[in-house]
Amino acid sequence: MAAGGGHDIEIKHVLVVGGGTAGWLTACHLAKSLRAADADGVRVTLVESADIPTIGVGEGTVPAIRKSLQHLGIDEADFVRECDVTFKQSIKFVDWLHTPNGTSHYYHHVFDYPLQNQFDLTPYWLMGDAENGSYADSVSVQGQLCDRGLGPKLMTDRQYEGQASYAYHLDAAKLAAFLTRHATEKLGVEHRLANVTDVKLSGDGGIEAVVTDAFGDMKADLFVDCTGFSSLLLGQTLGVDFIDKRDTLFVDHAIAAQVPYGSDDAPIPCHTISAAREAGWIWDIGLSARRGTGYVYAEKYTDHDRAEQVLRDYLRESIGDKADDVACRRIPMRIGYRENFWEKNCVAIGMSQGFVEPLEATGLLVFDATAKMLADQFPPTMASMPALAKRFNERVRHAWDKVIDFIKLHYCLSGRDDSDFWRDNRREDTLPDSLRENLELWRAQVPSVYDFPNKFEVFGVENYLYVLYGMGFPTNMAPLKSRYAEGANARADFAYIREMTERVAGGLLPHRQLLDRIKQHGIQKV
Ligand SMILES: Cc1cc2nc3c(=O)[nH]c(=O)nc-3n(C[C@H](O)[C@H](O)[C@H](O)COP(=O)(O)OP(=O)(O)OC[C@H]3O[C@@H](n4cnc5c(N)ncnc54)[C@H](O)[C@@H]3O)c2cc1C
Repeated sequence: MAAGGGHDIEIKHVLVVGGGTAGWLTACHLAKSLRAADADGVRVTLVESADIPTIGVGEGTVPAIRKSLQHLGIDEADFVRECDVTFKQSIKFVDWLHTPNGTSHYYHHVFDYPLQNQFDLTPYWLMGDAENGSYADSVSVQGQLCDRGLGPKLMTDRQYEGQASYAYHLDAAKLAAFLTRHATEKLGVEHRLANVTDVKLSGDGGIEAVVTDAFGDMKADLFVDCTGFSSLLLGQTLGVDFIDKRDTLFVDHAIAAQVPYGSDDAPIPCHTISAAREAGWIWDIGLSARRGTGYVYAEKYTDHDRAEQVLRDYLRESIGDKADDVACRRIPMRIGYRENFWEKNCVAIGMSQGFVEPLEATGLLVFDATAKMLADQFPPTMASMPALAKRFNERVRHAWDKVIDFIKLHYCLSGRDDSDFWRDNRREDTLPDSLRENLELWRAQVPSVYDFPNKFEVFGVENYLYVLYGMGFPTNMAPLKSRYAEGANARADFAYIREMTERVAGGLLPHRQLLDRIKQHGIQKV
């Protein structure tokens, strides 16, 4: 009570509602930050239903997750062992550029930086100084590591470090269970199993308590809504509107299937495969014990039976007639985000906050980043909440808008002409203004850090470079040639990267072998 001499109320108890990956990541970040110096610090409780299942998908991540897991004190080898983890070094986009006419096209969006010591090779690659290599292969070793099926780490590399940057593929259900153990056993999070059946409001319109079947009223000072698409607290109870973004990103359904490997020693790709199809795209993720696959599509441009057929046809290419027996699950997806993410004493994190198709694994990326932001910027008192909420809402909205720009980029650069889905995706009126402006600029000059002024940008210049030039974006270099006089240095760098590719690849293990060794021997801590 009475912080700073007034009648302000200290925030002493947070209740996270929902135990999917968003709920548990949030609980971990909050407990780690708020109880660091004092085990009697802010109490963090998580309540989840044993009857309402988690979404159960969400297998791809981006490299930022490494920092978070390390920050939370998670042992990387335990994580690899317990969450069916594999390493991810890239997203391999197959047939996104044009419909195959016998020759399939692919490019890698890898995680290594293309800028060599601030000397940007991109303009020189555009001017043909790189001997015909793809953009990714010319500026980084990592596309080749993926194509050769190699893992990103040496056994002598320390936890969370590698020869190339990496993220993970993981089993979402196992991750939630793993984080449950970590949060409750190591970070002091209290765990309750109960169904929330009602929500009680306080006099100021905030939340006073959630009513549960097992524990009656559960009160707290701050509530975090991690109830997934239902958005039970923020959306349903506080009535915060949902902003639908399907006019920009059309994809709104998924059909998911778990697929066994053909044999125990089948190679495991070290990248996500994203294969374009007539009304969307298929994800194909190799975990250590199985593959996770799915077709994400726009209902407006196809029907559910046809979508399932498209997925089975894709699977048939690798597992033959067994594709007909694979169990498929249809998942409707709400595309867009809430008008506010923090309203009164309720913050939404996870799919209750917003969601777009998982093309660049932005789900966990945004939820992890916003959970960390909430933990770092946690309001000490009720009076400090509105200012923090305003800032949080601005930042998170910016993040979602930037995610939408980046996802849409993949569609509007495509030359596929096999359906209205692809043709409509290129229509000017479906592009956000910010993306349209950037594309106009980048026709005349190479993207640079000046185009990404925000320190908390979700995707930076390097991500754009891989996608733009992987898809053959036409920056007109003719009027710019006089600015780039370092052709000889660039050619030397390109040659060095080719040499480095062979050297790095020569020392790395095939991906499956690396995972087996890690499971057996662990990963060095120091
Ligand atoms: C098809 C698809 C593919 C995806 N792929 C990726 C990917 O590759 N990478 C990525 O980063 N993200 C991906 N995502 C997103 C990812 O799955 C989610 O971001 C992540 O799982 C977090 O979900 P969540 O915790 O918000 O919700 P959920 O997993 O739905 O969890 C909701 C929780 O709330 C609880 N709950 C709900 N109502 C109540 C109630 N009344 N009482 C008590 N508890 C309640 C439930 O029991 C559950 O514990 C994908 C999503 C979809 C739909």
